[in-house]
Order: sequence, then C-alpha cells, then structure tokens
Amino acid sequence: MENKTILITGGSRGIGAATAILAAERGANVFINYRSNHEAATKVLESCRTAGVKAEALAGNVGMEDDVLAMFEACSNKIGTPDVLVNNAGILHKLDRVENYSAERLHEVVTVNIVGAFLCAREAVRVMSKSRGGSGGSIVNVSSAAAYLGSPNEYVDYAATKGAIDTMTTGLAIEVATEGIRVNAVRPGITDTDIHEGDRLERVSPKIPMQRAGTPTEIAETILFLASDASSYVSGAHLNVSGGR
Ligand code: NAP
Repeated sequence: MENKTILITGGSRGIGAATAILAAERGANVFINYRSNHEAATKVLESCRTAGVKAEALAGNVGMEDDVLAMFEACSNKIGTPDVLVNNAGILHKLDRVENYSAERLHEVVTVNIVGAFLCAREAVRVMSKSRGGSGGSIVNVSSAAAYLGSPNEYVDYAATKGAIDTMTTGLAIEVATEGIRVNAVRPGITDTDIHEGDRLERVSPKIPMQRAGTPTEIAETILFLASDASSYVSGAHLNVSGGR
C-alpha cells in the first residue's frame, strides 16, 4: 500500500477506522469520510499521521451527491487522486420484521447503503479509469454475510441492500475490467463495532462456527488484500470474512 492514496467512506469508527489505520501503517496516504462524529474522525487522523503518512477527512453523507463530489474533490486536492476506494459507510436500523418497516426507514437504508455506494463507485471510476486518463485502481465494497443469510426477523431491508452491493460488484467489475480497475466485495460476518444494538453481539456470536465475532482489524486485513496489488488478478470476487458461516 506504500504511497497509494486510499479513500474510505465511514472511516471514523469500526471497520472503516481499522482499515484507515492499517493502511496508514502500510504506508498509504489516507482520506476518510464520516457522517458527523468529528471526535472519532480526529482520533483516526491522529493515528494515521503517527504512522508518518498524510491523512485528511471530510464529513458528509454518502447518500447525497453533492457530499460525494465534495469528498472526491477534497481527496484529490489535499492528498491525491484515489488509487483505492473502500465503499464502507453503511447503516442498520432497529431489529424488526418486514411487516413493521416504515417507508422512511426503507428509503434511508437504500439511500445510504446502495445509492451512496453507487455514487462513490461512479466517482472512483471517473478518476481511475485508464480510458479517461486515470491510472487504474481498486474498489472494495463492504457487503455483509447478511446478503446470503437474509437476516430474517432482524433487518431484511439491510440484508437486501447488501445483496445489491454484491450484484453491483459483479456487474461493475466486468464493466471496468479493461480500464485498469478491479472491483471486489468483502462480506463480513458479525463484527465487534458500534453498529450492533444492545446485546446482539453476545447473543449471535455463539452461533458462528468459530463462536466469536470478528474484529474490525480482521475485516480490514481482507479489505487491504483486495485493495493491494497482492490481489492483482482478483476482480468480481465476494470474499466471506465471517468465521466460517
Ligand atoms: P459503525 O461502527 O457503525 O461505523 C459506521 C461508520 O459509517 C462511521 O464512520 C459513520 O460515521 C459512517 N456513516 C454512517 N452513515 C453514514 C453516511 N450516511 N455517510 C457517510 N458515513 C456514514 O459500522 P461498522 O460496523 O464498522 O460497519 C461498516 C460497514 O461494514 C457497513 O457497510 C456495514 O454494513 C458493514 N458490515 C458490518 C458488520 C458488523 O457486524 N459490524 C457486518 C457486516 C457488514 P460517524 O462516526 O460520523 O457516525
């Protein structure tokens, strides 16, 4: 990752923050987007800079086109054109059955998890594509094991957005394969971050074959494998990082 520029959405906490710090430790210059938690973002930037690389951040909602455009512009101006996009920002609503979902809930999860990922991927393709004068690059989409489990009685809506991310990964990987851009997805299983409400982590972990949740750094390791030249012949892959399930 030495001297590469990596742009990570949702980089202030959880999997995104772990990816930012690990990338910095491997010599990448880091740009993070986050929604609103300035304090958490500042801590991530400090950790990255301690590793001796450039690190900058901009708050914004990935579901809003203007915010995505501002994020890519700030990354290019302050750090450089991104070589890697980690499409990581994602949200989850309260555990509930489909019969109780409001239209507002559905619009929000689709806007952030699908529209946001598409807008960021679109901007990444525009700057990375060799046919547009770019140098190529790697897009890593953070999907979820929920895409193949469906998450019944919990969040079928969220699971469906991750199914969409898997499909986008398949299609976009083929679309840009001759343009120097690789597109892959990681599918984390339950991972120890703030995204989970209440005691869900403790309840679900014993059902995992490895009987534990993953750590954000374990997910980050796989993201950075797909981001790096070590995976130069891998595109369109959906890699489960889910403790055996
Ligand atoms: P997290 O700890 O809740 O962190 C979410 C991050 O996304 C934060 O940096 C947050 O910013 C940012 N964010 C939220 N909404 C945003 C928006 N609209 N625009 C821009 N940034 C936004 O989440 P996580 O568990 O690390 O999850 C990261 C990704 O992994 C998600 O796509 C999630 O679906 C996926 N995933 C997680 C798990 C798991 O078990 N944790 C499993 C499978 C997949 P603020 O700090 O400003 O709020």
